[in-house]
Amino acid sequence: MPHVLGLRCIRCEKEHALTSAMLYVCTACGSNLEVAYDFAAVRRSVSRASLAAITEPSIWRYTAFLPVNGGAIESRLGVGGTPLLRAPALGRELGLEKLWLKDDTRNPSASFKDRAGALVLAHAHERRERVVVGASTGNAASSLACLAARTGMKTIVFLPENAPRAKVAQILLFGAHVVAVRGTYDQAFDLCLAACAKHGWYNRNTGHNPWTREGKKTCAFEIAEQLGWEIPDWVFVPVGDGNILSGIWKGFVELREAGLVDRVPRLAAVQAERSNAVKLAFEGDGKLRPVSGQTIADSISVSLPRDGDAAVKALRQSNGIALAVSDEEILSAMCALARTEGVFAEPAAAAALAGVIRAASESRVRSSDTIVAVVTGSGLKDVNSAMRAAAAPHVIDPDLGAFEQLLSERIQL
Ligand SMILES: *Cc1c(COP(=O)(O)O)cnc(C)c1O
Ligand SMILES: [Zn+2]
Repeated sequence: MPHVLGLRCIRCEKEHALTSAMLYVCTACGSNLEVAYDFAAVRRSVSRASLAAITEPSIWRYTAFLPVNGGAIESRLGVGGTPLLRAPALGRELGLEKLWLKDDTRNPSASFKDRAGALVLAHAHERRERVVVGASTGNAASSLACLAARTGMKTIVFLPENAPRAKVAQILLFGAHVVAVRGTYDQAFDLCLAACAKHGWYNRNTGHNPWTREGKKTCAFEIAEQLGWEIPDWVFVPVGDGNILSGIWKGFVELREAGLVDRVPRLAAVQAERSNAVKLAFEGDGKLRPVSGQTIADSISVSLPRDGDAAVKALRQSNGIALAVSDEEILSAMCALARTEGVFAEPAAAAALAGVIRAASESRVRSSDTIVAVVTGSGLKDVNSAMRAAAAPHVIDPDLGAFEQLLSERIQL
């Protein structure tokens, strides 16, 4: 990989060479690492035209920007290449002229996490790892299990015991070993670290494994290409650990470094009210401190964000903003998204739109701004929450009279 220089620490910027031993965190300060590239080399190998000539629609069209030697281990399922949908009806309701939805519910396991899972598995395969292990609120694990299913690699995942059932069902069916931890995601994360340290397994944990951010950055490449290289004014991202946010930021910065674009968007981090550690750090002294993490949006229910330093840095560098939305705002955004645009999002994914709604109402964005909200996971993954957002069905006897009565009394067409 001539274009990869090595790993660089997010906090102290110490550079680390890529060695045969897997390095997860900085040996000097313990912080997360990011993959560093030689952009002179990347510039020589890609242009807008060379990308346009690639017919591969998945994330593997961007190998010039990715740290993989052997290429995709699982490309048949098609990770990424998700649609960027114009949302005119929703935009009209909110007074926004150029609102777009990046619909990442259309990934193989129905969430954005497939971008990370694909990169991590390609890397694990290159390293000839046999066992890949990860902690997850649910989506990272269902992605890992899905994409690993036919690779021959074994997977063990650590989840909080109360993870939504549909996510657990996916993971079990895809054949991972599921460890349901009586505790929070944060506790599952730490247990997973300890198990990997003891057994020497390859660890996928979000942020802790630098390859997760590399997969997530491909979303920025797609947004830029899909908008015809017009960079949006804003990208709204739901934030738990902060790895999607820092990944999308890295992607836009790398497009600029590679000479493909000359500007970058501002980022808006959207968190749940009591799972708002990134917002507090960004608006305060920059230090991450644990919060309760309680929210209906399980995918962003995090006490201490595991890629928080990188997320705060991305917000600072992008001149971004952070918003905290209530569970009620999230449920109402789920309804709005479904009814106006036909997109069924899980609560964490709808949080991005709840953030857009809040930002519009507080005039933090202009009506003429180009705004992209990243819809990170499907509503089918958490049907209980969807039913809370929705009205109850009409129950009647199998009888036309009963239907006629219902029609006259309860249904307005
Ligand atoms: C993981 C996830 C997020 C948050 O990503 P982080 O990198 O943890 O900030 C948002 N939405 C969905 C659906 C997710 O699965
Ligand atoms: Zn460091």
